[in-house]
Formats: sequence, structure tokens, C-alpha cells
Amino acid sequence: MMNFTSIEWLSAAGYFACVVFVLRRMHVSFQHKCAIDVLEARRYFNSLQQKKMEIDEEKVKFAEEAQEIFALYDMTKELSKNFSEDDSIRIFKAKLSDSVRCDECRFVLPAVEEKKTIPQAPEGSVIPLIAQQQLLGYLLLKGCSSEGLEKAAILAHQLALVVRRDRLYRQVESLAITDSLTGVHTRRYILERFHEELLRARTQKIPISFLMIDVDYFKHFNDQYGHLTGDQILRNVATIIQENIRQIDIIGRYGGEEFCVILPEADGSGAQYVAERMRQAVEKAVVKAYDTKVRLTISIGIACYPADGRKVAELIDKADWALYRAKKIGRNKVCVFGVYDEKD
Ligand code: GH3
Ligand code: MG
Ligand code: MG
Repeated sequence: MMNFTSIEWLSAAGYFACVVFVLRRMHVSFQHKCAIDVLEARRYFNSLQQKKMEIDEEKVKFAEEAQEIFALYDMTKELSKNFSEDDSIRIFKAKLSDSVRCDECRFVLPAVEEKKTIPQAPEGSVIPLIAQQQLLGYLLLKGCSSEGLEKAAILAHQLALVVRRDRLYRQVESLAITDSLTGVHTRRYILERFHEELLRARTQKIPISFLMIDVDYFKHFNDQYGHLTGDQILRNVATIIQENIRQIDIIGRYGGEEFCVILPEADGSGAQYVAERMRQAVEKAVVKAYDTKVRLTISIGIACYPADGRKVAELIDKADWALYRAKKIGRNKVCVFGVYDEKD
């Protein structure tokens, strides 16, 4: 058995105290480090949370922007399907109400004299529709928030482009079917319409008549007054003919100084009555062309469905034949086809 001296006890106790002291210091510093780590982790967690919030906010913003872009895309897609101004405005109003809360949305055209003054919308807002620096109309909006107005303005810009496209389309369409000299329909258009109207007449078992009209001795007017005056005379003759037909009748320039008229629902005697009225109106008129005043006459040939034929080409040929007969018997006359006779 070993006996420890008091010195040995003391040094053992001192050694033990040192160990305890070192261990305590290590424990405290470990605790301190842990506290710092927790603090840093918390800070990091907070910053992550902050970032998440920012990302969430951005997500909402992107979702809103995407919704606007989709609304714009959706509206543009719908608008591109038609070329009618009225339909475009109707589609716009429907699409606007999908994405913007608004009590009332109205489209108004600019009055000619008001082109520069913006109309007042009581308790509402006005968005001018402008495309290519041209004022096309106004959107009057009532009960719309300022945020809604911003959206409406973006969509309205798209509408302005579409309205301009619709108007250009209408212009081109009208130019394609309008004779540039006389303002009546082109030969191509009138032939298309004759096919349609003849089909309708056959289906509904109703008559239809075709008039071929030719200005008498027109060459003489050109020779005497020049082509420019001749052109103006032709324009005036077209106007007189137009003034003597019904709204459902269709007038066209067949070529040169020849016009034609489709008279839906008119039989031989009805067509003869209209043609006679036209002939007399031209005969009586003093036609003014620039500083020239002239008197002239027209000759008219008529062919009728079903009496004279069943096909477009056949009816045109027979109206032409009747016109030739009107010329032959002295001009300034109306002739209904009836039967083929000798041309010479
Ligand atoms: P008719 O009574 O037999 O019909 O005699 P016309 O002189 O009218 O007939 P013709 O066919 O001999 O002459 C038609 C003239 O119409 C000849 C042509 O110069 C003229 N003409 C055709 N188109 C136009 C046009 O667009 N403008 C002008 N100014 N004249 C035209
Ligand atoms: Mg002729
Ligand atoms: Mg002639």
C-alpha cells in the first residue's frame, strides 16, 4: 500500500484544479462559439427569409406582368381574326372587362371639326386612340381605377393599331370594287354580283333583269372637247343613271363608255320602265363638264331571267344584242331582247 505525503496530495489537488480550470475555460469558449454560430445561423436564416419574401414579391409582380402580356396576346389574337371595326371594338370591350374593372367603356369617333379637342367624359377618363399620328377616335371609360386605366391604355394602343388596319382594309376593299373614273362598281365586281343575284333569283323563283347601257356618239364628245371633258361627261352620266335606280339595284362600268345595271326582282316590263326613266333623264339633262355644257343620249339593251336566259353569259350576250338593236333603230332607245334577229 502506497502512502501519499501531504505535498503529493497538494500537487495532485493543484493538478486537478488546473484540469478543471482548463476544462471550464474550454467549456465556456465552446459555449461562446456555439452562441456565435447560433446567432450567425439565425442571421443567415433571417436573410434567407428576407430573400424569399423578395422573390415572392417579384413572383407576384411577374405573374401580374405575365397576365397583362397574356391578356394583350389573347386580345391581339382575337382581333387579328376579323377585319371589321365594329367587331374589333366589341372584342376589345369584352377583353377589357376580363382584366380591368370598369363600369362603362364607350368608343366615339372624332367629329371632323373636333379633331384636336378631346371630348369630356363626365366622371370618367378619355383615352385618345392614335395610330401613325392619326386620331382614330376616343375611348370613354367610367368607374376605372388608376391602375385599371394604365392597363386600359396599353390595350387601347393595340386597339388603335387594329382600328387603323380595319379602316385601311375597308379602303383597299372599296378601291378594288370601285371604278376610279366614274365611282361606280368595276366590271369584275358587277359580274360577281350578277352570279350571286341570279342564283338567288333561281332559288327564290323571282325574275331579274340586266341592262347594258351605251352613250350615243360618245367619240364625238371626245373629239370635240378633248378626253378630260369626255371623262367628266362620263362621270356625270354615271351619276344620272345612279339617281334613277333603287338601292337594291347594282350599277357598274362595263368598259369604255358602257355601263350595266342589275335589277333584282324586275321582269321585262319593270326593267323597261326603269330603263325608259333613265333614258329620259339623260336626254333631258344639261351635262356640265368644266366650262362646257352638253346634251347627250344613251341607248339601253335589256335581257331578263327567266324569259331570255338562265345563265350570266347568255343574259349579258342578249342584253348586248338588244343594245345593238337600240342603236340600229336610231339610238336614244330602249330595247328588250325577246328573240334573236339579224345583226346586220
Ligand atoms: P355609238 O353611238 O355607236 O356608241 O358611238 P360611239 O362614238 O359612242 O362609239 P364608239 O365605240 O365608236 O366610241 C366610243 C368612244 O368612247 C371611243 C373612246 O375614245 C371613248 N371612250 C372609251 N372610254 C373612255 C374613257 O374612259 N374616257 C373618255 N373620255 N372616252 C372614252
Ligand atoms: Mg361603246
Ligand atoms: Mg357609244
